[in-house]
Amino acid sequence: MRIGLSTDIHRLEEGYKLIIGGVYVPYELGSVGHSDGDCLLHTVCESLIGALALGDLGKLFPDTSEEFKGIDSSLLVLQVMKKVKEKGYKVVNIDSTVFLEEPKLSGYIPAMRENIAKLLEIEVDYVSVKATTSERVGIIGRKEAIMTESIVLLEKKEI
Ligand SMILES: [Zn+2]
Repeated sequence: MRIGLSTDIHRLEEGYKLIIGGVYVPYELGSVGHSDGDCLLHTVCESLIGALALGDLGKLFPDTSEEFKGIDSSLLVLQVMKKVKEKGYKVVNIDSTVFLEEPKLSGYIPAMRENIAKLLEIEVDYVSVKATTSERVGIIGRKEAIMTESIVLLEKKEI
């Protein structure tokens, strides 16, 4: 078994879309990023990279690269899943938290879990997405940023 952890923060600004876990969340502010700014899928991706001890997201997908500009972050997850399988592992479960002051995410969480389950090739029961605010304190509370954390467990596939 191998475990991987990841934390990510993106600035929130007008004129950007807010995409979380592959789900478009209508809001006055969006997540700034070189890719589609999907903070949740970035930690999904990077926790897998961490579990395999392959470095970090920036090492695999440089934000200076034209190739990854505006890219759908689910494509990044699929690329990393290829490495997971090449190394002979499969995902057991994943647990994530989204820190965001507004808007309420409860209505979008089932779709985020479905997306992540499909990308990681596991049942939705093994995908947890939680949302919390920051009680109006700090960069999250002032609606300046979105933050996510993910932790994933991998297991060696039986041959
Ligand atoms: Zn990111």
